[in-house]
Amino acid sequence: MNELDKLREKYQHIAHELAALYGYPTWRQHKLPVAELVDCILSQSTNDANRDRAFALLTAKFSTWEAVRDAATDEVIAAIKPAGLANQKGPRIQQVLRTITERRGSITLDFLRELSVDDAKKWLTSLNGVGPKTAAIVLCFAFGLPAFPVDTHVHRVSQRLGLIGPKVTPDQAHAIMERIVPADTYYQAHLNIIEHGRKVCQARRPACERCPLTPWCDYYQQTVALNSAVVATSKSKPQKQKDTKQ
Ligand code: SF4
Repeated sequence: MNELDKLREKYQHIAHELAALYGYPTWRQHKLPVAELVDCILSQSTNDANRDRAFALLTAKFSTWEAVRDAATDEVIAAIKPAGLANQKGPRIQQVLRTITERRGSITLDFLRELSVDDAKKWLTSLNGVGPKTAAIVLCFAFGLPAFPVDTHVHRVSQRLGLIGPKVTPDQAHAIMERIVPADTYYQAHLNIIEHGRKVCQARRPACERCPLTPWCDYYQQTVALNSAVVATSKSKPQKQKDTKQ
């Protein structure tokens, strides 16, 4: 069995346990494609709540993406302030909307459905400020296409499990995870790994003591289990008798 096959087999066990914990999420369109793209830009370096507030304020202030594109940049920046880095994100959103208009004649991404997933990714990542994660989120969440998004939770949990190596960056991890995870389960895998990262395998302190993935987790096997074995061995060693002679 080669390395990739071993990782695929390991992932099957992990997926089974995660599904037992978090179920089998079925795909639903979260947002329309352009809205998903804007949402992703807003989400950079902030949390979900701030992103959602900024998105709600932006769409309340401007009724169409054309209006966002053509607005004074200061107004867009003011609307998305809760997302942070508004001075960068505002111009970036407008630039993306302008580029889509220039290339397609209107603000639509629906044509991506007709492309291969690889070509759709290339098209999206050719937009200024759009990386592999954003491209995968748009394709997976807005179109239901087989692209695997790697966010901070997926990156951390997959690295601890040993599905991706310790030096693999989030951008590099997309292609690796797409080879390990069956394509028809990307959506489920993405959501379940995120859920596990939020609830159990948290960044600061993974709760390995209540995690069902320990038999397949490199981090657990190489640190927690190993440390426990060392402690057990040192406890079982006979203690040197103290010299009681006066
Ligand atoms: S065993 Fe620990 S490190 Fe491994 S996935 Fe579970 S919580 Fe994370």
